[in-house]
Amino acid sequence: MANVVWHKQLQILLDLTRDDLDHPELPDLWDTVYKTDRFYGRLGVPVSERDLQCGGVCRDMGVEAPMHLRMRGGRREAVHERREDEERHSVPMSDEHKAYQERILRAAHEGGFGGDSEVRTRIGRTWIQTDTLVEGADGRRIGWEVQLSTIDERGLRGVRTRAGKAAKNGITPAWHTDRAAYAQRNDTHWTRSDRLPAELIARNGDLRIVSGFRALDFWHCDTNAVYPCPHGIRRCGKAHATAKPRDVFFDDMVRQTAAGTIVPIQFRAGTTVHRYWVTNADRDRLEDLDSDDTRLPPEREITPATGASRNRPTCQPATAQSAEQDPPTLAAPLAARPLLTALPLQPAAPVAETVPPDLEQGETPILQATDTTTGLPTELIMLQQAADAAHQRLQQLDDHHERDLQRQAWRKAAEVVQAAVTRYARTKRLNRHEVETRLRQLVRHTAG
Ligand SMILES: [Zn+2]
Ligand SMILES: [Zn+2]
Repeated sequence: MANVVWHKQLQILLDLTRDDLDHPELPDLWDTVYKTDRFYGRLGVPVSERDLQCGGVCRDMGVEAPMHLRMRGGRREAVHERREDEERHSVPMSDEHKAYQERILRAAHEGGFGGDSEVRTRIGRTWIQTDTLVEGADGRRIGWEVQLSTIDERGLRGVRTRAGKAAKNGITPAWHTDRAAYAQRNDTHWTRSDRLPAELIARNGDLRIVSGFRALDFWHCDTNAVYPCPHGIRRCGKAHATAKPRDVFFDDMVRQTAAGTIVPIQFRAGTTVHRYWVTNADRDRLEDLDSDDTRLPPEREITPATGASRNRPTCQPATAQSAEQDPPTLAAPLAARPLLTALPLQPAAPVAETVPPDLEQGETPILQATDTTTGLPTELIMLQQAADAAHQRLQQLDDHHERDLQRQAWRKAAEVVQAAVTRYARTKRLNRHEVETRLRQLVRHTAG
């Protein structure tokens, strides 16, 4: 039996524990649904061909489990047609799993965040069920799902779908496991701890996340670099990022994800999408690195380095404390993968097509001087050089505040060159994209 039923035709979930099935907008819903089901039954329509499926764990795992309805002692009941579906509901939650739920809530609470276990979030006419939901800062919601080695692989059905659905509805999925094979899956941002008994998980002592969190190492591709250039054999002179596995305390992970100082990132390498957690500072810096003047990084408030931590001393980024030690020796198939290039984190910024109002008010642009080989105005070339220099300068800065300021400077320079390109292409009736490509080729290939 299950309390939640999915109606295939109506595309809604029915909560049998509530009189109105949690659909006040549909009066007499139970009578209608029940009578229809009974009617099909009398006609001999197989349960699998009727309208109802399990809307509980079966649906959560992506299993279509047919159900029929009955009344028992005045109670409404939904019954699985297949025994294997019914069994899915009777797997008791392990002590370890419960210990994790409690630990997440305790850690969150100590960081000043609320939360609850087994939370059902209403999404239009359906729900999302979350193992443990932490209510973080600025409306941030972290949906913890704990999958331990005590369950079998079937528990992993539909992970990508469930995680995707949560993310789409404002819940950052955070899946945690103690099994290495799960942690290596790329279907969501998995974190892993060592396998521990419930007493240890429940206790206040150190509980470490040993995979799933990375520190990004930003470096310059010159002769001093320790990593090979991701673009080739020679040194390209640009900045690159390398992701290194790093341990983080489980409690810190709970609090910092809630505070927004640890965030999920994903990137594509070949055909695989890799997903892991990094500090927000690393994420921002990576976005700076992968942006260019046609795809600027997202606008950010200028904030102190500790960001959302405010009065929460427990929310300091943990990377500094462990920065001295070597990367932990754990199975890390990505450890040697040095490149994080051109992540399409942001869609093309609309600034490319906007012309600042001061340029449209009849001000005559000075675009007479031209480059002799390309015919491009010298002014455009200089503006592009200025924007590129500002971007390069940004890659050389480590200080958070300096980076914020330099990011603003670069953004302004980039917007100016974009506007100038638009204006030039318009007056000369040229293809804007071609002008831009030619300009960047010229500037970057003669930059030395
Ligand atoms: Zn079920
Ligand atoms: Zn390089």
